[in-house]
Amino acid sequence: MSLQLSPAAEPGKYGLVIHGGAGTYSREREKEYLDGLNAALDAGYAVLDQGGTSVEAVVAAVKSLEDNPTFNAGCGAVLNSEGFCELDSAVMDGQTLAAGAVAGVQHIRNPITLAVDVMKRSPHVLLAGEGAEHFAFGLGYEKMPREYFITPRRKEQWERERAKKSGASRGNIAGEEKFWGTVGCVALDRQGNLAAGTSTGGLTNKMLGRVGDSPLIGAGTYANNATCAVSATGQGEFFIRTVATHDIAARIAYRGASLSTATAEVIAEVEKLGGTGGVIAINRAGEIAMPYNTDAMCRAYRLSDGQRATQVFADRSHSK
Ligand code: ASP
Repeated sequence: MSLQLSPAAEPGKYGLVIHGGAGTYSREREKEYLDGLNAALDAGYAVLDQGGTSVEAVVAAVKSLEDNPTFNAGCGAVLNSEGFCELDSAVMDGQTLAAGAVAGVQHIRNPITLAVDVMKRSPHVLLAGEGAEHFAFGLGYEKMPREYFITPRRKEQWERERAKKSGASRGNIAGEEKFWGTVGCVALDRQGNLAAGTSTGGLTNKMLGRVGDSPLIGAGTYANNATCAVSATGQGEFFIRTVATHDIAARIAYRGASLSTATAEVIAEVEKLGGTGGVIAINRAGEIAMPYNTDAMCRAYRLSDGQRATQVFADRSHSK
């Protein structure tokens, strides 16, 4: 059996792909999503353009989405069963396979930054809850009040969800958004290195202490220069059970699958179990893929060869 290698790096080619979650979106709010995606895309691209690393680009793009109340990460994250936000995030460096992640943090404005600090400044990969925050405050992070993260829209969504659960309201409300607006970014830098990062508030009304796929390396986030960088969004339990992002890399490494085949196959595996969502991926050749099985996925890419697009609806399986 010959070992299949991923497409060789194209010298100098760089770029990134971002997502802002998958699900059913309100058409009226499309512009808001597009504007948020474009701002994050440009923030990440500027880093790459100036010769920054893929990890730095991922952080810039994800931070922009975390600070934007439209998306389910940082400020504007969804609320758990107790009515406050518990945030998960991870980052992975495809060159060194170093990784860092945090789960269930409640007072950190940019969990992606803390994930990078876990990667670079702790001997561990994943810190959870109080311990993660203790580490952050020791590094000088500001303690944000829980209210900073809670927006009126998320409060309403949470109340609707709870009313549905208690049987007070049935069926779908017209134009209601159902989505798992996690944010993520995968990037290829000028040096040919890949990175991936993901950040989320998880699922609306999730149980206290529930951790999703986003901070789990190989489930919601994975990067390896030998194969690809991937960030997932969707019903995290299914992406954990299929070890989705690592499975994509494994199909490429062991079977020589293309990026578009590997990503589409793994979304099909998620679907087989009854799960919904999508992934974004990039490899060292600058090929990208963004398949999903929901109605829509907030996604955008920009590559140094001039290709650029930002989309919410249409075209479920997309590779370049
Ligand atoms: N995958 C995330 C989770 O399950 C949710 C999302 O993608 O919005 O925590």
